[in-house]
Amino acid sequence: MTNTKPPISDQTNLLDKVWDTHAVCELPSGQTQLFVGLHLIHEVTSPQAFSMLREMKLPVRFPERTIATVDHIIPTLSQLRPFADDLAEKMMSAIEKNCSQHGIRLLDPASGQQGIVHVIGPELGLTQPGMTIACGDSHTSTHGAFGAVAFGIGTSQVRDVLATQCLALAKPRVRRIDITGKLAPGVYAKDVTLVIIRQLGVKGGVGYAYEYGGPLIDAMSIEERLTVCNMSIEGGARCGYVNPDETTFEYLRDREFAPHGAAFDTATRWWKSLASAPDTAYDDRIEIDGNAIAPSVSWGINPEQNIGVDERLPHPADAPAEKRASLEEAFSYMSLKPGEPIEGTPINVAFIGSCTNGRISDLREAARVARTGHVAPGVKALVVPGSQAVAREAEAEGLDEVFRSAGFEWRLAGCSMCLAMNPDKLVDREICASSSNRNFKGRQGSPTGRTLLMSPAMVAAAAIAGHVVDVRGRL
Ligand code: SF4
Repeated sequence: MTNTKPPISDQTNLLDKVWDTHAVCELPSGQTQLFVGLHLIHEVTSPQAFSMLREMKLPVRFPERTIATVDHIIPTLSQLRPFADDLAEKMMSAIEKNCSQHGIRLLDPASGQQGIVHVIGPELGLTQPGMTIACGDSHTSTHGAFGAVAFGIGTSQVRDVLATQCLALAKPRVRRIDITGKLAPGVYAKDVTLVIIRQLGVKGGVGYAYEYGGPLIDAMSIEERLTVCNMSIEGGARCGYVNPDETTFEYLRDREFAPHGAAFDTATRWWKSLASAPDTAYDDRIEIDGNAIAPSVSWGINPEQNIGVDERLPHPADAPAEKRASLEEAFSYMSLKPGEPIEGTPINVAFIGSCTNGRISDLREAARVARTGHVAPGVKALVVPGSQAVAREAEAEGLDEVFRSAGFEWRLAGCSMCLAMNPDKLVDREICASSSNRNFKGRQGSPTGRTLLMSPAMVAAAAIAGHVVDVRGRL
């Protein structure tokens, strides 16, 4: 699956280079017919696509470029078959049947490689620089951390990619986001992405790809970059990426699906050539001071509605006119009051996991906090590894025991309470401190449930305190 075309050299940005390399033709609509190097599928958005394919009597064009896993519906307490939930069992059976019929590799729980689609792609080395990647999940932007151009797509587009390995897409403009400075202890990649969205807005990225760079991004690990790229879509961007560098290449070395030996060296030369030229012109460019970023907490009903943990909630009257209605709706739904501090807001549930923050580095940071206390009475706290590989690594380090001793539940890999298409759901008006990516109304399974987005370490601190608290005082 590796693109080993000869290096290209020009003065443009990565998005342009990858786009042009994968363009099949320009369509009369003005869109590009774009070849998709890697198609990731899961059990929720693929059954209808396979049904449409069957109706059209079409085969899967490149089964070897398609990888399947199960994550959204999979229970995290017991994955014994048949699942207790009929719909989940039907979806699981459907993806098994479809993959077997079309010769697609399915990474199910028995494979030992199952997990959230945006966690397993990177950890298996499937995600590589310069690729075009598509998946029927909004947070496919995650894979941009490697310098891939990765899009979330809808069910009919999943059908299109299965049938043709191509998508019809409009080329986005590119906004370069430079993050300078250094993160203070207790401040994480999640806080960086929340601050970007707060500053640019949930619609600020519409029509754009976000290219993240600058000293702070350069110094980040791949797992931190994955968190930042993951939430590009929450800022309205079509995708987000970081230029590939030595951190990227070292992460990929010896991963199962990455090239090996001489092929790795050849691929590395190609990957290096894809990075945006230093003097590239962008459609827009902004800079954010990383030194000024504090642990952030969403308080409203979209990720833009977030503040530093040491700040007070905004007054709608102080906001631009076009934002006031949304702020008032958020206050009403969340039962919070303008001017109140966010610190001290009581929580009922704490969720550590998801494709944003369910990786080993996230669990290590949360475990550092978990070692300092015990989950508060009345709080339900879940730790859900993003993949079976993450779970194995965490268990080898004893993190599962750290969490259990502190009163957290240690679960099996899956999306769990990020979207709650499985038994992990909020009940009624519960408030959840969550390391996931969306705080929309009803997102976590209860139509009236409330979500406060924050970093995994902040979630662990809130679980122990029983309310939102500044993790900087707990490390
Ligand atoms: S963890 Fe959440 S955002 Fe990520 S793939 Fe699963 S449901 Fe989608």
